[in-house]
Amino acid sequence: MIYVDNAATTKLDSNAFEKMKPFLLEDYGNASQPYSFSRNARKALKEARRTIANCINAEEEEIYFTSGGTESNNWVIKCFGADEADKMIITTPIEHHSILNACKKLHKIKYVNINNSGEVNENSLISLLTSYETNKNLYNNSLDCLVSIMYANNEIGTLQNIKRLVQLTHEKGALFHTDAVQAVGHIKIDVKELNVDMLSASAHKFNGPKGIGFLYIKKGTSLSQLIAGGSQENGMRAGTQNISAIVGMAVALKENCENIDANSKHITEVENAFIDKITENKIDFIRNGSINHLPGNVNISIRNSDGEMMLHRLDLMGICVSTGSACDNVNNQVSHVIKAISVPSDYAEGTIRISFGKENTVEDAIFIADSIMKIMQG
Ligand code: PLP
Repeated sequence: MIYVDNAATTKLDSNAFEKMKPFLLEDYGNASQPYSFSRNARKALKEARRTIANCINAEEEEIYFTSGGTESNNWVIKCFGADEADKMIITTPIEHHSILNACKKLHKIKYVNINNSGEVNENSLISLLTSYETNKNLYNNSLDCLVSIMYANNEIGTLQNIKRLVQLTHEKGALFHTDAVQAVGHIKIDVKELNVDMLSASAHKFNGPKGIGFLYIKKGTSLSQLIAGGSQENGMRAGTQNISAIVGMAVALKENCENIDANSKHITEVENAFIDKITENKIDFIRNGSINHLPGNVNISIRNSDGEMMLHRLDLMGICVSTGSACDNVNNQVSHVIKAISVPSDYAEGTIRISFGKENTVEDAIFIADSIMKIMQG
């Protein structure tokens, strides 16, 4: 089997798995209990928080453990700003559904324009922020605004210039959140340099376990609690912490961050081999996304083809790819991202996403390109 759907999820790092085991079988104490049996769990929780903070240049107390990217994103969208203030959100039409669907029910929502590569149009952001400033005065300052723009798109891999977008946002007094679920562990992230107010991450996208993630919240940022209950996570996110998963996440993130340059170089070589081979095979395709993209994310639209059919035919050949977002698997239509970047109609339905990971090889890439050619030849 050749697994090339690493944007959907990744294989658990074996070292992370080994470090998780004792917290399931031996040191299973509740980290909130003061007795000595829970000491190892408490210590592991603290160390994991420190490790994760170091990986993104945050402070320990700015890391809040959650059940993953979906929860982190929902938390931000539903709980930002002062309780009594009215809320406005500026986002892109190509966010993950955990942002888009959370936004729908709650707020005055504005979508920033993007170009056909999926990059945010800065002038469009400035004009939306200017209208926020004007409205804020009408609301006697009781209008809070959040800009939520993903770091790397999960379908087409486009990277945004987050540092610049944060600067524009802060100039108008709004908050900035980035869904960095696809980026953390794959490209270098320094929250101080970016100056983001909040950042979401998910362990299973960087070889950690599923069902665990974190939200970075810059000290002093106004965000209320999403999940009420006990006083875990500094009273901000109730619920007994999943120590083994948290430990696994920290080990996996450290491992990935220490090898980020080598992994990225290798994955880019594999990606280039694939593109060279399908070009050589004379497949009529468009590559979606930007030149500035997540290493390994290859989203192509093949003319007069059917992405769904391609996925199943490749599956029969032992290759796992995706047609777009893993969360869209009940929906066979052209994805919201492919629509938003205006892929021509004779190509759009033939879209597949191949997301190479550190375990893939150049041979895998060539085999996949040849398999696509065989399917196209019927
Ligand atoms: N945000 C992005 C960009 C994603 O790609 C995903 C997962 O596909 C999520 C959020 C949701 O993360 P999780 O699976 O941890 O809930």
